[in-house]
Amino acid sequence: MRPEPHSADRVRLTERKQMTTFSELGLSPKLLTALEKTGFTKPTPIQLAAIPHVMKGRDLMGLAQTGTGKTAAFGLPLLHRILDIGHPPQPRTVRALILAPTRELVLQIAENLELFTKGTAVKVTTVVGGASINRQAERLARGSDILVATPGRLIDLLEQSALTLVNTGYLVLDEADHMLDMGFIHSLRRIAKHLPHKRQTLLFSATMPKLIEEVADTYLRDPVRVEVAPPGKPVEKIVQGVHFTPQGDKAKLLESYLLKHPGEQALVFGRTKHGSEKLMKLLVTWGFKAGSIHGNKSQNHRERTLKEFRGGELDVLVATDVAARGIDIPTVRHVYNYDMPNVPENYVHRIGRTARAGAQGTAVAFCAPAEMEELRAIEKTMKAAIPVIGGAPWAEGAAAPKPVKVMGKSAQKIARAAGGGRPQNGQKSGAPKPAGQSAGGHKPFGQKPAGQKPGGQKPARPAQPGGTGAPRRFQGNRKTGSGGSR
Ligand code: ADP
Ligand code: MG
Repeated sequence: MRPEPHSADRVRLTERKQMTTFSELGLSPKLLTALEKTGFTKPTPIQLAAIPHVMKGRDLMGLAQTGTGKTAAFGLPLLHRILDIGHPPQPRTVRALILAPTRELVLQIAENLELFTKGTAVKVTTVVGGASINRQAERLARGSDILVATPGRLIDLLEQSALTLVNTGYLVLDEADHMLDMGFIHSLRRIAKHLPHKRQTLLFSATMPKLIEEVADTYLRDPVRVEVAPPGKPVEKIVQGVHFTPQGDKAKLLESYLLKHPGEQALVFGRTKHGSEKLMKLLVTWGFKAGSIHGNKSQNHRERTLKEFRGGELDVLVATDVAARGIDIPTVRHVYNYDMPNVPENYVHRIGRTARAGAQGTAVAFCAPAEMEELRAIEKTMKAAIPVIGGAPWAEGAAAPKPVKVMGKSAQKIARAAGGGRPQNGQKSGAPKPAGQSAGGHKPFGQKPAGQKPGGQKPARPAQPGGTGAPRRFQGNRKTGSGGSR
């Protein structure tokens, strides 16, 4: 591994994340030509984040979902460095070793790399189980620039001395999380004995379970960790909050929030088709320009409603998850999780409907006693706590009253009694003071709590590794429930 000089301004550019093209990443002209031919016009986010570090020679952990372009994220900078070498590898040696869990993946990675090496002298070899080991040994005898292998077959070949890894300056562990259940740690230990200490190691994974963290600690040196937000992950611009409220008070609470932001469009998520329709009708009787989309509406009807919402004829759209999937309405300023989603990932999709294209957005979740579990699952998925903006967390597992039927009778009762308002607010409309603030200690809405970085490069790790997974907030506030809106 030879550290490669890189100009300081390129490094600075990386830090400012201003590079958007492959050529700005400083890849060799040969690769740029190949990239053009493959139709890769722009680096994907993981490529953008990883390539500069790999080019600088850093060890790296890359976290990104399947299909985000991880192969080129390590393949391009590796090839860039190998193309620079200018002489073929020595017999039986390997310059870069890529380990992948399955035969299919090995072949796929090799195919991908060959797209970029066409017309160059770079030699990519594969080694997988279920194929003739002798033929593989023969090919290895001539030496390889890049060897892509499954661990098992590689160990067999190492034991036969069909190759040596003494010249291997690069090690890539691809799809590391998938290798875990295949005796990977044991195999890796055996393979690592053959590798020089002085090397660059890259680890790519879709998830980062504890065992993979341990692998990274053992085999990577001072790694950079790059992480790419899965699609729909909350962008930093979304100001999030959770308002603890009894199920039956949700409709009035929604009204008060809507009245606080006149002229700003809101998307409201309900859990059921029926409940969403009822809520929409209630909002209409309260004077809001509201529409709904859900599975009981015909495609035509849904399209018309969406068009009206887009065109600004509607201010509030009540939707179920299924109906809202993939819809893009850039003008949505507020997302209300009237019912907590029971699939945690849906929270991320839902709130991702606001703050699109760089706009501002807020996302408020209404959490009833029966929804604490959903809330905790969401926070676990996001690896961040949602700031409390009203009420106080319900005691866990306690007095969760029988879930009131979503947007059911009690909401209508409140509607009928619309003059009364709630005791602690005293006003029937306008901006009620979030109840939680009077309890003290809660973050007021609109301020991002320190340490919470939704969508950032490095979300906070779970608060207590190996612990209950319950965010600290719940432990701290468990006894302050009396300050809430019950
Ligand atoms: P991952 O390893 O993250 O699952 P892959 O590296 O297999 O993803 O890439 C997924 C698909 O995206 C492949 O078909 C690949 O050719 C394509 N791809 C990767 N990078 C780019 C890019 N910058 N532009 C266009 N397509 C790309
Ligand atoms: Mg991959």
